[in-house]
Amino acid sequence: MRHGSIPGAHGRVRPLTLLGDPVLHAPAKDVTDFGPELAALVEDMFATMYAAQGVGLAANQVGEPLRVFVYDCPDDEDVRHLGHVVNPRLVTADGVVIRGPEGCLSLPGLEAGTERYDHAVVEGFTVTGEPVTVHGTGFFARCLQHECDHVEGTVYADRVEGRRHRRLMRQVSRASWSK
Ligand SMILES: [Zn+2]
Repeated sequence: MRHGSIPGAHGRVRPLTLLGDPVLHAPAKDVTDFGPELAALVEDMFATMYAAQGVGLAANQVGEPLRVFVYDCPDDEDVRHLGHVVNPRLVTADGVVIRGPEGCLSLPGLEAGTERYDHAVVEGFTVTGEPVTVHGTGFFARCLQHECDHVEGTVYADRVEGRRHRRLMRQVSRASWSK
């Protein structure tokens, strides 16, 4: 692979928005301009995701209220999935529902058991406006559902219920970043 083609190699690591930041809790806007600014944003998002050792990142997690996410995520068979989706639509989420540990770069250091479908399909576009369809199973399906939630202004903590939710919120209130 050419050096120049490594995602994020030319990107800038940006500060992450954290739980409670309004940009994380409002639906993001459709991308209408597929120009160099969008390509630069995606590069920054990859750089930021890798710097934070994440497996997925949505644009509102770097403060941009646009419908874009990037991912570099394994599935349950350890197959690596790498890419980005602009204006994503979760067109299928089905199969069995699995409650598994889920975390988020906007709630650093925390995780909670979160229910997700085992299979997901996302349709959208590349940075140059080409249509793209992404299929995921297992942990990668979880990632796709998590990132599609972000563009709608939902974080995984919103999907955790009962005592798990209370425990997570207690951990948030004690976290150094939530002050
Ligand atoms: Zn997240």
